[in-house]
Amino acid sequence: MTAGKFVFITITLLLCCNLLGLIISLVTVHFKSIQKYRRQDKKINPSIFYQRLPLIGFNIFILCLFSSFGLYFLFPLFDKSLDFNLLVVALQVFIILFVDDFFFYFLHRWMHENKYILKKVHRIHHKATAPFALEYLYVHPFEWMLGYTGPFIGIISIGLFTDSLNIWAFWIYLLLRNIHELEVHSGFNSKISKWIPFWGENEHHDIHHEKLDGNYATTFTLWDYLFKTKMKE
Ligand SMILES: [Zn+2]
Ligand SMILES: [Zn+2]
Repeated sequence: MTAGKFVFITITLLLCCNLLGLIISLVTVHFKSIQKYRRQDKKINPSIFYQRLPLIGFNIFILCLFSSFGLYFLFPLFDKSLDFNLLVVALQVFIILFVDDFFFYFLHRWMHENKYILKKVHRIHHKATAPFALEYLYVHPFEWMLGYTGPFIGIISIGLFTDSLNIWAFWIYLLLRNIHELEVHSGFNSKISKWIPFWGENEHHDIHHEKLDGNYATTFTLWDYLFKTKMKE
């Protein structure tokens, strides 16, 4: 595995996830019969989707650009052997998700408690009170770039304390995180994830968009229980 090939596969994975998000979003906004399965009754006007597209597209561009450069320079930390040890991979995926979500909880909560940041930055994401999938990308570019810090800390921590930062673990983390973001912004009621303890189900983040308060974590709900910011229906 070379750095170039690693970056190419990673960017392809990211683009495929967002293509899936584009398809789900188009179906959601154009087919009213599907919207009845959403948690909130609010109907989405398809024109909103097209108004959101320029910023969504810009953030995808930033995502590809930063990921390409960042991962190229982080590549020496990775184990190039492509060994797949299930225990190692599962543990590393969990560590990256855990560190990422812990950082995100406090970043997100700060963006609500600091009224200046809320008004100037985070309010853009909250234009969506009943979001569709691709609106996870409808955020201020500053907020979007800050969001990279959590996974960066997770990857660096594993890379520096072990000599086996696993490429499969990173790709699986990336897929889980991106598909989960699409899912929790889709607005549809969750079927499976609500039965997994402390896993951030769709309703958890949808309530946050509806009420503009509480439920600051996304991947896990643990932090909201622990710090008493869990909102009820
Ligand atoms: Zn928020
Ligand atoms: Zn959101």
